[in-house]
Amino acid sequence: MHLFRKKHVTQCSRCGKLPNHRYKPRREWNVQGTFCSSCHTEMTKEFILKQQEEKTRLEQEPEYCSLCRKEILEEADKNKARWQWNMESGSILCKACFETKSSQYEKRLNYCSICNSHLGFVRYNPKPKWNLEGQLCRTCWDDQKRIKR
Ligand SMILES: [Zn+2]
Ligand SMILES: [Zn+2]
Ligand SMILES: [Zn+2]
Repeated sequence: MHLFRKKHVTQCSRCGKLPNHRYKPRREWNVQGTFCSSCHTEMTKEFILKQQEEKTRLEQEPEYCSLCRKEILEEADKNKARWQWNMESGSILCKACFETKSSQYEKRLNYCSICNSHLGFVRYNPKPKWNLEGQLCRTCWDDQKRIKR
């Protein structure tokens, strides 16, 4: 007494309707089941969209912090290095590196590189052959001059 029962009727795996025509998913969709025509159309669109998104994601070069090589994902980590820091132009620094670099620079700008005393208005540039970075206080400059003559 199963005469009225249609054989092979399968619900659309997505919307649950009983479609007249069933469509198989494409292999690259990675889904199981069969679908009604409107769901199939919908899924085709979705798949194309997903592919496009994937493509643009891959095309976008990730940015990395110039110092610690951390991938820059957040806006807060997108800090342009200051030109005074003598880094490659267009260098991007993460928040942590930017802060470190600024305070280092600030320090170099205001403190003697040897004795760390605060430099006032008068400061001295080390001679190139001394191989020193930053600036020096009078005392240290005199010392260097005496030692490295
Ligand atoms: Zn459907
Ligand atoms: Zn960093
Ligand atoms: Zn000093």
